[in-house]
Amino acid sequence: MNTGVEQARTSAQLFERASAVTPGGVNSPVRAFQAVGGTPRFMVKGSGAYLWDADGTRYVDLVSSWGPMILGHAHPAVVEAVREAAVNGLSFGTPTAGEIELAEEIIERVAPVEQVRLVNSGTEATMSAIRLARGFTGRTKIVKFAGCYHGHVDALLAEAGSGVATLGLPTTPGVTGAQAGDTIVLPYNDIDAVVEVFEAQGDQIAAVITEAAAGNMGAVKPVPGFNEGLRELTVRHGAVLIIDEVMTGFRVSPSGWFGIDGVAGDLYTFGKVMSGGLPAAAFGGRADIMASLAPKGPVYQAGTLSGNPVAVAAGLATLRAATADVYAKLDANAQRLGLMFEEALTKAGVAHQVQFAGNLVSVFFGTSPVIDYAGAKASETWRFPPFFHALLERGVYPPPSAYEAWFVNAAMDDAAFDVIADALPAAATAAAEATK
Ligand code: PLP
Repeated sequence: MNTGVEQARTSAQLFERASAVTPGGVNSPVRAFQAVGGTPRFMVKGSGAYLWDADGTRYVDLVSSWGPMILGHAHPAVVEAVREAAVNGLSFGTPTAGEIELAEEIIERVAPVEQVRLVNSGTEATMSAIRLARGFTGRTKIVKFAGCYHGHVDALLAEAGSGVATLGLPTTPGVTGAQAGDTIVLPYNDIDAVVEVFEAQGDQIAAVITEAAAGNMGAVKPVPGFNEGLRELTVRHGAVLIIDEVMTGFRVSPSGWFGIDGVAGDLYTFGKVMSGGLPAAAFGGRADIMASLAPKGPVYQAGTLSGNPVAVAAGLATLRAATADVYAKLDANAQRLGLMFEEALTKAGVAHQVQFAGNLVSVFFGTSPVIDYAGAKASETWRFPPFFHALLERGVYPPPSAYEAWFVNAAMDDAAFDVIADALPAAATAAAEATK
């Protein structure tokens, strides 16, 4: 009889078991503590602003499942919607009314989106958007920006952010030259580099894909004119502008980063918040481009579980519960957290940059503001592991990487901030005392 569950109760025991059956003991590299050292925490419960691990320790969660949980964990309206959907059946492989409602909700919020296709992950969304852009334009090349992460799509892994940055991988084995050869990687926030590339090979570029505001090298927002410049250049050269709002979408405003800078893309990718924490994502945009998708058009794209009724119910319930008050709370919580970082690190005498992209927050150690991936890599990332562990030991769960944004949720209250306030002085001191 397998009594493993009884035997393995602590995170350390679970990690040992997991490592035997799963590479690195995790199902997504960003969950590992490889860059900060130590044992990943195996969570058993989430409620509101808090997570509990297998050892029974409670944490204020500043990862929010890497973005989706804007309402906090196990929000009653979302749990109820999931329960109601589940009792009616888990998957039909047919269209359902909920899919229309979710598409309508997205279209209503993000004006440039006229049609939507639901998929299962952000990776699928960007992969499909790229295929569609290539099919629509009949061109092959894609422009992406260093430090931006668009999921683990072969063509988009070059100089990617998120776990690729955390693990220090310039690219990844398994991606062939042919798959990567049509990807042009440029520095983020450098519009002159984009102008140059379009001048040289504009008639071959199918699409430019960019994070609406970069969150996967830490929070690095577009400098004024960057997104606008991408819009202008892509229009001029007949390329598709794909704005990846998987991270920012429905988090940084009701209509994502589009609600902040108003720059219209041709195609958008969404995930995270619109999934309510279940596997769902979407891509969408101009109806004339979307019309190229099968079964209407020739560009094939499909999915057994796409538009899954339970995931759709979770996403819809989350978006419907995300009132103006929720967005105000997210913004206020991000500002409050940033101010607390600022005060603690200043007091400890550590040079730092607290950066925001809407309500995404991050801390870079060093004296220069970070506007691109080179800047993020040049920051004093070696100060991050002791900062991280001092917080973790004191009941705060930060992202386990210097290259990730911190995600607040609207359930964070004064009590949660008190935990952070109590933990920060020691964390700031640990960062100050860190050695390379
Ligand atoms: N695009 C962006 C901007 C992301 O942040 C992510 C994931 O973090 C993805 C795409 C990929 O989404 P998923 O992890 O759901 O495949």
